[in-house]
Amino acid sequence: MKLKGKVALITGASKGIGKGVAERYALEGAAVVLASRSTDLLSVIEEDIGKAGGLALAVPVDVRNRESIEQAVTTAVEKYGRLDIMVNNAGISMAHPSEELSVEDWTRAVETDLYGVFYGCQCAGRQMIRQGGGCIINITSIYGLVAAPMRAAYCSSKAAANMLTKVLAIEWAKYNVRINALAPGYIRTELVQGVIEKGMLPVDGIQKRTPLGRIGEVKDLLGAAVYLASDDSEFMTGAVMTVDGGWTAYGYL
Ligand code: NAP
Repeated sequence: MKLKGKVALITGASKGIGKGVAERYALEGAAVVLASRSTDLLSVIEEDIGKAGGLALAVPVDVRNRESIEQAVTTAVEKYGRLDIMVNNAGISMAHPSEELSVEDWTRAVETDLYGVFYGCQCAGRQMIRQGGGCIINITSIYGLVAAPMRAAYCSSKAAANMLTKVLAIEWAKYNVRINALAPGYIRTELVQGVIEKGMLPVDGIQKRTPLGRIGEVKDLLGAAVYLASDDSEFMTGAVMTVDGGWTAYGYL
């Protein structure tokens, strides 16, 4: 159990990567605070973790609303006494030709994928500074490192979240607060499945373009998510760790 006795708050824990991370952290011994807008889905996960002998608490959060994140941090601390791990995972994808991207869509993506990450870092960071340390993991994307067409809002937000990770890492190292980004490649979740179904993701092409030859599964990320949250990575901060089957390393034909 790599996270025994720790308290973790995970945004976007109702499905996909966030759900997988929360369930794995609970198995590793952490008390997990599950945050997103779909409280019905969160309650089911909370119950399942409880039945398996873990500790979980569902809290309603819209990451675009700073106060709701602040309240979730307060609730976590009231219930479990501290906050050791914050995973800013909630995110949305956005694909439009840039010349047609509306201000509303741009704003929705940036508010979720960037502002939400900043709010999460700041609210958790303040608590971690008060208690003498902690660690933050921002789930960003390979598309914060390399470009994809029609993803101006998504790529810009994720690139900014990678840089935010570095800035906070160097600022808060003195408080013993570590901040790293985990940048996945294509991972088969509802978000990706939705884009595939809209015909916007050529699965065969992606598999060919990926040196390891396949789209990732949520479980492919979990080892890295545990590592970054555990004391095994205690000398690591300000890093952007890709888990992408070699996608961003590839630059040939
Ligand atoms: P997903 O299956 O669509 O799940 C997204 C999660 O984010 C849901 O739990 C959703 O919960 C939550 N969420 C969205 N907007 C929110 C808001 N305003 N407030 C609170 N929660 C919100 O997506 P995923 O594939 O697991 O992606 C998770 C993260 O990984 C995202 O940041 C995404 O950009 C990143 N990522 C994914 C991939 C991939 O291939 N899957 C690749 C690179 C990066 P509610 O709807 O319940 O609020």
